[in-house]
Amino acid sequence: MKRLTHAALAILGIAIGACGSIDEPADMVLINGTIYTVDESNPWAEAVAVRGEYIVAVGSNAEIEELSGPETKTIDLGGAFATAGFIDGHVHVGATGSLLLGVNLLDVHEPVAFAERIRAATERMPEESLISGGSWGAYEQWASSSAGKTVTDEVAEPFTPHRDLIDAFTQEHPVLVSRFDRSMHLANSRALDMAGINENTLNPTNGEFDRDENGRLTGILKGSAYIQVRRAMPEKSFELRIAEFEAVQAEGRRGGITTIQDLTGPEMLRVYQETRRRGNLTVRINLRPTLFMVEHIASIGITKGFGDDWLRFVGYKAWVDGIMGNSGALFFEPYDHQPGNYGYLRTIMFPEGREGAGLSMTKHQKYTDFPPGNLETLLQAAVPTGLPSHVHAIGDKGVRILLDIYEKILKENDMVDSDHRWRVIHAQVIHPDDFKRFGELNLVAEINPYHVSDDMRWMEERIGVKRSAGAYAFRSLMDNGAVLVFGSDSPGTNAARYYLSPVYGLYAAVSRQTLSGEPAEGWFPDQRLTIEEAIEAYTMNPAWASFEEDIKGTLTPGKLADISVFDTNLIEAGRENPAGLLEAKVLYTIVGGRVVYERGD
Ligand SMILES: [Zn+2]
Repeated sequence: MKRLTHAALAILGIAIGACGSIDEPADMVLINGTIYTVDESNPWAEAVAVRGEYIVAVGSNAEIEELSGPETKTIDLGGAFATAGFIDGHVHVGATGSLLLGVNLLDVHEPVAFAERIRAATERMPEESLISGGSWGAYEQWASSSAGKTVTDEVAEPFTPHRDLIDAFTQEHPVLVSRFDRSMHLANSRALDMAGINENTLNPTNGEFDRDENGRLTGILKGSAYIQVRRAMPEKSFELRIAEFEAVQAEGRRGGITTIQDLTGPEMLRVYQETRRRGNLTVRINLRPTLFMVEHIASIGITKGFGDDWLRFVGYKAWVDGIMGNSGALFFEPYDHQPGNYGYLRTIMFPEGREGAGLSMTKHQKYTDFPPGNLETLLQAAVPTGLPSHVHAIGDKGVRILLDIYEKILKENDMVDSDHRWRVIHAQVIHPDDFKRFGELNLVAEINPYHVSDDMRWMEERIGVKRSAGAYAFRSLMDNGAVLVFGSDSPGTNAARYYLSPVYGLYAAVSRQTLSGEPAEGWFPDQRLTIEEAIEAYTMNPAWASFEEDIKGTLTPGKLADISVFDTNLIEAGRENPAGLLEAKVLYTIVGGRVVYERGD
């Protein structure tokens, strides 16, 4: 094997990393690729060399083959497209796992599929574990209403299941699944037994436990009947959580996701650590505990950067208002379809406020009508830790309130022009006066591009055309100086599933169309991004926003070898045929130089 000196490599124009000696052969080379590095100093290449966990060189086939030795593993990409590993900037890992391993009934509204899905869940889940959630009937609701109608419209004959459908194959599992709107729930016989409920123990006039024409309980529960049964259900076991997380990792590997920025609960942090101890961690996790924990976390000395390349604290999560899906996002003017509803402020916005739902606002109420809220106190407590604030704000008034609080705290601490990297999560509907403040305050907008494809079906009906012009306004945010971070918001709402796969978000950002390609010219098409900008928002920008730009986000020598390989040239598809993005399949997902997914496995 011919050894090349640094000088010789420099003459070849090959980019060399600082890690490792150049005299040793690479552990792995990827050759014959169409490689988009996201690194503007060297955007395109044919091949990458990896040693250990790191990229050591990016260049032409000839250059990289020089780094091959007898032991080097070679992956011939055969022209396939490779780019920096995708970083999903917004994932609810626990909820995604529950949905993936448990039962997803969003698209189910008839008995055969209902029974089949629950039977399949009994095979995936450990014995004795509770099968819950499901959200049956959600898509039926959509199908029965014309485009633009809301999910609350009446459906002629909604599907209502009976426990007889599932009892035969669910003796080993209590089942307590719910209709998508939580208006009713179905318990199987095992669950009713565990709660000590049967025809004889109940007052026959109790209508919250539904009965069939023979007087037998159907298993359908409403109101407090659900709560009564729910209380008797087993807690989720640690092993079940581990299994759920493995299902999340598997979906991430198939999607080319190499880092997840989670909204982390304490139970998940334990799961990540145990998964890692067992040698099974295949996705890096950026941790964002809730801001309510700031004093505990700060009190044991955790500050910015704590953790390592696999598990790292990158910020604190908090909330200002509700969400669009249930018309809870806070606006200056009421919702068009619900006159009188302005949305609500989360309880953290009030003195001593805790995590939880909030208080509805009226037209004349300003948030300054209340004493300074707990959010301000907690944000201030987080400042000395250096861990940035990541706060959810969705409606135009919700975003205004957050910008006001951010401005106040950043100014009081003389931090406006510091490298603080604070985020506005969602930043969904922005008042025209507020775009410029993202640049003035040097903020990151952590946004969910796929919401465009999904929410545009009802946005104008709910908030009108004028306000919709400031909705998902990614171009305006960018032009005004916000750094864009993309996230899937997996697993989604009880009306839509958001996948751990970047192609949906990339498609939505460049096309601003529904999955079926409507409207033809795109919804507010001036707000479209280029595919290059969209990929940056899914790779380089989230790495920067978590203070990890030195180790990931681009395919650059010296950075971690986190690489996603697709069968489709994402840049070409994004420019010429955005629908082609939706067809793109991941061929390899590589994390820290290890192939964790290979298509066909
Ligand atoms: Zn979310």
